[in-house]
Amino acid sequence: MSNLPQNYADANALIEALQPDQSVILNRPHAAERAARFFVEKFPGKSLYAVKANPSPGLLNCLWSAGIDHYDVASIAEVRLVADTLPEATLCFMHPVKTREAIKEAYFTHGVRVFSLDSIEELEKIQTATENATDLTLCVRIRVSSEYAELSLAAKFGAIADEITPLLQASRQVAETLGICFHVGSQAMTPHAFVQGLERVRAAIVDASVTIDIVDVGGGFPSVYPDMAPPPLEDYFTIIDRTFESLPISYSAELWCEPGRALCAEYNSLIVRVEKRRGDELYINDGAYGALFDAAHIGWRFPVRAFTSLDMEFADFAFFGPTCDDIDYMTGPFPLPSTIKAGDYIEIGMIGAYGAAMRTSFNGFGESECHDVSDEPMSSLYDGKSRTDWLPDNVVSISR
Ligand SMILES: *Cc1c(COP(=O)(O)O)cnc(C)c1O
Repeated sequence: MSNLPQNYADANALIEALQPDQSVILNRPHAAERAARFFVEKFPGKSLYAVKANPSPGLLNCLWSAGIDHYDVASIAEVRLVADTLPEATLCFMHPVKTREAIKEAYFTHGVRVFSLDSIEELEKIQTATENATDLTLCVRIRVSSEYAELSLAAKFGAIADEITPLLQASRQVAETLGICFHVGSQAMTPHAFVQGLERVRAAIVDASVTIDIVDVGGGFPSVYPDMAPPPLEDYFTIIDRTFESLPISYSAELWCEPGRALCAEYNSLIVRVEKRRGDELYINDGAYGALFDAAHIGWRFPVRAFTSLDMEFADFAFFGPTCDDIDYMTGPFPLPSTIKAGDYIEIGMIGAYGAAMRTSFNGFGESECHDVSDEPMSSLYDGKSRTDWLPDNVVSISR
């Protein structure tokens, strides 16, 4: 098989043409562009793409062409990647714990001016590594609850309680522009997650009595998965805007967000082949160490469809990935035609966020080809069909 990316109408056309014996990543540039345009047009502030969700250069180019010009990077390798791929992009180094070397290279070589921090030690590090620069935008990360999100980000980063006031005041002395940021956790199933975060921001501003120039509500905007249909994104934007406008901040303060998942989930799907069937378990050629990390490790359910006989009867299946490890196992359940068998192909949808990005070459697997397709993603938040019946405290829980 050639490695040059080609265009196909859909997974079916690709399978007919290539009969691939390894898993194949499908790109949907039109879906990523649609998501980016949605944020650019409708979010009432600036949208930074969180690169870690999917750093593929093809995707970065799509987002850029749709108007996303700020990028949330978290490592020096991500700084270099985005600087190389999109030389005119504004990079924001939003990992609260960085090395001196990374800060120095980011500032002096790549022109990075925006940094986040959650401790006085990090502030001192940023000052020395940038030789006491006076043109910094510093975003103080505060800790907020992850109770409304499917994936917590509450344990690791963020200043708490009486750390916040001294940190905001010290950062104000150093920063040209001062921000406050937080992250509600990934796949936040209700806009109230952001309201709760913004209320923490309000308390922090009042306690510290500092002028805040940027309020950054972070990532956490959801995508659509089986049994996880979130409210419309417009509702998130409206509620965030209303709460932001009520904060004790100056008229010129900016609102930022850092979507990862919501911008890239629809960008990729995956074609796998069934290599063996054992009862209701299918041995497929991608898995926990490939693009299906979340399916294996946190029981995430992705949509699936089979390319097989026209069987109308469905059954629930679990998957084994190709490596020799027992944990290379995905519980699902994944509903597929009950007659599915070795040699049949399956498309696994919505793996653009934290799927394609997680692949390793463990055990000699992971060499998937990538091709473009032009059909619709298996589900979408942007096709005008999202649900309107949500209840304010609707939180879907999944087992871990
Ligand atoms: C991971 C991350 C994001 C993106 O989160 P999503 O849930 O993918 O939207 C944004 N900001 C920071 C600081 C992150 O660590």
